Amino acid sequence: MDGIKKDYVFHRDLKKEYPIITHGVGVYLIDENGKKYLDACSGAVAANLGHGIISIGESMAEQAKKAAFVHTMRFETKALHELAETIGKMAPIHLNKVYFTTGGSEANESALKLARQFHRDAGRPQKHIVIGRWQSYHGNTIGSLSAGGDVKRRHAYTPNLLNYAHVYSPYCHRCPYDRQKNDCLSKQNWTCVTDIEKTILELGPENVSAFIAEPIVGSQQGAVPPPPGYFEKVRELCDRYEIVLIIDEVMTGFGRTGTNFATEQIGIEPDIITFGKGVSAGYAPLAGMIVHDRLIDGLIQNSDGKFIHGYTYSGHPVAVAAGLAALEVYEQEMVLENVKKQGPYLVNRLLELKQKHSYISDVRGKGLLIGIELVKDRKHDLLFDPSEKAAERLNGIAIELGAVFYPGSGAIDGTKGEHLIISPPLNVTNTEIDEIVRILDESFTIFKGLLR
Ligand code: PLP
Repeated sequence: MDGIKKDYVFHRDLKKEYPIITHGVGVYLIDENGKKYLDACSGAVAANLGHGIISIGESMAEQAKKAAFVHTMRFETKALHELAETIGKMAPIHLNKVYFTTGGSEANESALKLARQFHRDAGRPQKHIVIGRWQSYHGNTIGSLSAGGDVKRRHAYTPNLLNYAHVYSPYCHRCPYDRQKNDCLSKQNWTCVTDIEKTILELGPENVSAFIAEPIVGSQQGAVPPPPGYFEKVRELCDRYEIVLIIDEVMTGFGRTGTNFATEQIGIEPDIITFGKGVSAGYAPLAGMIVHDRLIDGLIQNSDGKFIHGYTYSGHPVAVAAGLAALEVYEQEMVLENVKKQGPYLVNRLLELKQKHSYISDVRGKGLLIGIELVKDRKHDLLFDPSEKAAERLNGIAIELGAVFYPGSGAIDGTKGEHLIISPPLNVTNTEIDEIVRILDESFTIFKGLLR
């Protein structure tokens, strides 16, 4: 690199150096040597419109020139209200009050705190425990990490984590409760649901503040949707025991699954939806939560109208400008229609690939949030050993060939289970999907050679 030292930055992998990206065009990122990478995972499932959209960049620049920072503890901007209204109108009817943060971890942290304050001020002071789910991810701050169930990310910080409870999320392909899918569904006696109630009763309902879940489990399981009816049962339990239901749509929000929010497809009204990533299509750090009227009314009545919480960069004007401009592009490009068309096309192409490569044991997901489960040998259901780092290695090969995927591991028990998420920008074309599948196909062939 001309004159630039690479000694000062560090990332998760302290020993690795990464290609230097100079710019992006559509679904492609381009590095300093001119090599193109097809961004088949929208970065971290965030760059949902791809790269180089001038209108978003210009809106951000205009705002920065007018007022770079407005402290939302003292002032507001019109754009803040406009964005909140747009988001509120996209959400289920009684969820229309929006609170902004910069990232998804902060959004979940805010939701957990709001739930706690809501109960405390309503005269239920003991309610403070959160029930989350294993193999789920809600962020890396201590509160959201405690609520999540990512064993690998939690491990080093065990003494720092909050004493939250966890159940397993439904994963019918490999049920963590060892139930058979058809038997379970026909009997309507779902262990993944009865375990929630058992946990609530063991903790004491008077102590439980919130239940948090991703509508489709993203990074930890590789795009696993719930069986139909699961969230209706969860909603019933939350109502019965006065528990705030938080649906984490940080990865699934803003069209990723074919509807504005995946919540529309799980058929319930949560108390809080958290969002991030797609709201600004990755053009600025922007996230937040959408809160049900009953919680806001509770705070107005019981808490002197105050939510005891806040961040310096809540509703940052430049990020809000990015959000507004991005949501306009989603509309203009009719992204939802494209997801409904390209999602099934991608799945069909991946099912073709499954016929060819016995490393693929499952293709699942919704819209353009699609996961493939990787096994060593599908016929014998032989799993990869975690030390083989199959998903990571496969992705490494793909990057060499010019496409980036989102690898993950630990879906089964925190260590075993490898997967790859394929989540291209929502305006991806048929031809680009063909290119994604071609590179994946070639990657599997090279991978097979390496395993021999
Ligand atoms: N929740 C979900 C479902 C996520 O996928 C993520 C990030 O991947 C987060 C929360 C955390 O968001 P952030 O990395 O913006 O803090």
